[in-house]
This record gives sequence, C-alpha cells and structure tokens, in this order.
Amino acid sequence: MADKYDVLISGGGLVGGSLALALQSSGLNIGLIELQTVEQKQHSPAGERVLAISQGSRQLLEQCGLWHTVTDSSETIKTIQISDRGYLGKTRLSAEKEGVDALGYVLEARQLDLALVSLLEQSTVDVIAPAKMISLNNNNPASVAVTIEHMNGLHEVKHARLLIAADGGNSSIRQQLGIHARQIDYDQTAVITRVNAQIPADGIAYERFTDSGPLAFLPMGWRNYSVVWTLHPKQAQQIMALSEQDFIQQLQQAFGYRLGRLKLISKRHAFPLQLLHSKEMIAKRVALVGNAAHQLHPVAGQGFNLGLRDASCLAGLINQLNSLEDDPGGLTLLNNYATARKDDHQRVINFTNSLIWLFSSDWGLLGHVRSVGLMTLDRIPWLKHRLAKAAMGM
Ligand SMILES: Cc1cc2nc3c(=O)[nH]c(=O)nc-3n(C[C@H](O)[C@H](O)[C@H](O)COP(=O)(O)OP(=O)(O)OC[C@H]3O[C@@H](n4cnc5c(N)ncnc54)[C@H](O)[C@@H]3O)c2cc1C
Repeated sequence: MADKYDVLISGGGLVGGSLALALQSSGLNIGLIELQTVEQKQHSPAGERVLAISQGSRQLLEQCGLWHTVTDSSETIKTIQISDRGYLGKTRLSAEKEGVDALGYVLEARQLDLALVSLLEQSTVDVIAPAKMISLNNNNPASVAVTIEHMNGLHEVKHARLLIAADGGNSSIRQQLGIHARQIDYDQTAVITRVNAQIPADGIAYERFTDSGPLAFLPMGWRNYSVVWTLHPKQAQQIMALSEQDFIQQLQQAFGYRLGRLKLISKRHAFPLQLLHSKEMIAKRVALVGNAAHQLHPVAGQGFNLGLRDASCLAGLINQLNSLEDDPGGLTLLNNYATARKDDHQRVINFTNSLIWLFSSDWGLLGHVRSVGLMTLDRIPWLKHRLAKAAMGM
C-alpha cells in the first residue's frame, strides 16, 4: 500500500465510492479510506434506505460501470401520483407525457453499496478499509498529511495532493478544518419500512400529504413498496413502539386503500432529519462532496443525486488535467469546482425546503390551498412539466 497519493478520498459511501470509480481511468494514484467493513455495511439499518435515482444519476452510474450491476434489482418509476389525505386535489406526473422512459428509478442503498465494494475490489483504487481517518494537516503547500487509524489500533500517515471529504453528514474533515455548516433541525423523523400490497406496483410512486407529515410509497417490484413516512419525532417514537399490527393499521389509515390491504414485510427504522449545508466546498488541498457538503431531507429524494453530481463534476475537472504532473489539488481546479456546484446546491435545497413547507405545514387553510393547487397543477401542462423536471433532478 502506498503512502503517497495524488487523490485520497476519506469515506467510501455511495458518493465517495462512485467518485473513486470515476477517477480510476485518470491514471492518477487514487486511495480510498473507509471506516466500515463489508459485513457492517451489509447489516447496517442505513442500507435499508431505498433511493429514488434520477435519470441523470443513472447516466452517471452507467459511466462508472455501476448501473449494469444493479439494474436487475432496480425498479422503474413511470408515474408519480401526488395526493392530499382528506382533500380532493391530486395530480399525476407521467413518464409518457414527459417523453422519457422513466421519471426515475428505485434502488436499495445496500445493493448499490455492495456493487460498489465489488467493483472497487477489481479496480486500480487502493482501498484502505476498515480504517478511520482521524486527523489531517494541510499546512504544507504541496500536499495534505492524513493520519489513519487501523482496526488493530496502529496509526499510519498518508500524503495526498488532494484530499476529498466524502465522510458523510458528520464529516470529521469539515469539522477539523473549522468549516461552518448551516444546520436546520426540521423537527421531523423519517420512519422507513417495506410493505406488500394487494395491488401490483406497476411503476407508480405515491407521494401523499397526511396530517402527520408526507408519506411516500416507492415501487419495489411486483407488489412490494418501500415506505418513507415523515413524522414529528414524538409521533415517530410512538409509531416505532407500536406492535406490527397496530403500525400497519395506522399506516393503512394514513395512506388509504388504493393499493388494497397492506402487509408489513420488514423492520422499521427511524432517521432524524436535518438540513446541513456547508458554507465552503473547498479548503487548501481539500474538496467536500456529498453529505459532507449537504445533508438534505429525503422528501424530494435528491441527496444522493446531488452528491453524485458533485462527484461527477470533480471527477470531470480532474480527468481533464493535461498531464499526470498537473496538480489535482491546485487552487484553480478547486475554485472551479466550488463555483460550478454552487447554483445546483442552492436550487435543490430551495426545492426541498419548499416541498417540506408545503407537505408538512399543519396550518389549517393550507390543506385547502394545497388541494386547489394540486387540482390547478393537474390542468396546467407546463407547470406539471416543470414539477416533473424538478422531480427528475433536471
Ligand atoms: C430515509 C432516507 C431516504 C433517502 N432517500 C433518498 C432518495 O430517495 N434519493 C436520494 O438521492 N437520496 C436519498 N437519501 C439521501 C442519501 O441516502 C444520501 O444523500 C447519501 O447516501 C449520501 O452519501 P455519502 O456517500 O455522501 O455519505 P454517507 O452515505 O454518509 O457515507 C459516508 C461514508 O464515510 C465513512 N466515514 C465516515 N467517517 C469516516 C472516517 N473518519 N474515516 C473513514 N471513513 C469514514 C462512512 O463509514 C460512510 O461509508 C435518503 C436519506 C435517508 C436518511
């Protein structure tokens, strides 16, 4: 294992791993540090998340050679139905009307994670795992020194011309560099689980406003759905404590019977939700990507999609360097990266926040306004088209 890298990525999650794969053809010496073992990833509750993947992300995953390994376990979203419990308003976005094959795809995070691990094993990327990046020193003008702790307690120092922080929402790199992040606690928790329904999924995703918060059903093959139920933390705690039978009864009540009777087919997991937006995307010889730079509410299903676009942008700039001697951690490249990503971040954060406000507000009148809004939206093709484009992450 080398102790000098051109690019060292800390965090081999979905974004860091994809970025490492996207860089392997650069000819540069790439290292990737990951804290968790494959077994830990296999059994972690986070792996149960089901991701809505945009068309754009599918293309990026194709470019890193990942998509074809997960395509059999993915589900196509052909229609998104948005409705409001207790009101008449509803609208449908359809792939056919948008002239695309799919509005998006649904994929279990664990499938993608394990596919990444396997491709990385076959790649030229030097995977250092399980190991924890514990500190960094970027005072030297030519490289960053990174201290790693191996699972046997041994410490090792690695040097890199560029260090990439892909170490998630609690990024220790962001914190060690003293980069401030705007944080909004949404006072909401996402409860995720899976259900089997009487009516086949048929590529329809459901997004439903309920009194307790937004409720999403994503198709997961034949008659199975992944459920993301956003609730006030206290309600989420109560829902988590319910017996399976009582839980499914409450879920059925919130969602209705459009899919017939629902049956619980997996455990429930709870994720507290917050917005985290780093003030800076770069520091001397360091770039932030994915959740290390922005952690979003899952209501719009955009967090990973946005992180993948960070990875693609940074990989694009590095892959464009003229020679292996050109500096991947140089100030110009880093500034170009930060500038290129700014608008996309702000646009997605604004879109997500407006959905949260619309979906979660319990202001009485808003239910009626929302319902009229959905009915109006259903009759205005160009407005529907704009919403469909936003949902597709375009
Ligand atoms: C309930 C839920 C539903 C979601 N649904 C969607 C969706 O539909 N669509 C979508 O686009 N997004 C969705 N997201 C968001 C998406 O899951 C994240 O945006 C994405 O997983 C972020 O990936 P990441 O690689 O940046 O971070 P992470 O997945 O957090 O990965 C960070 C990695 O870094 C490693 N690490 C941390 N610290 C260190 C260290 N010191 N040294 C070495 N390694 C370290 C960790 O082990 C981990 O593997 C959802 C999120 C939730 C909670």
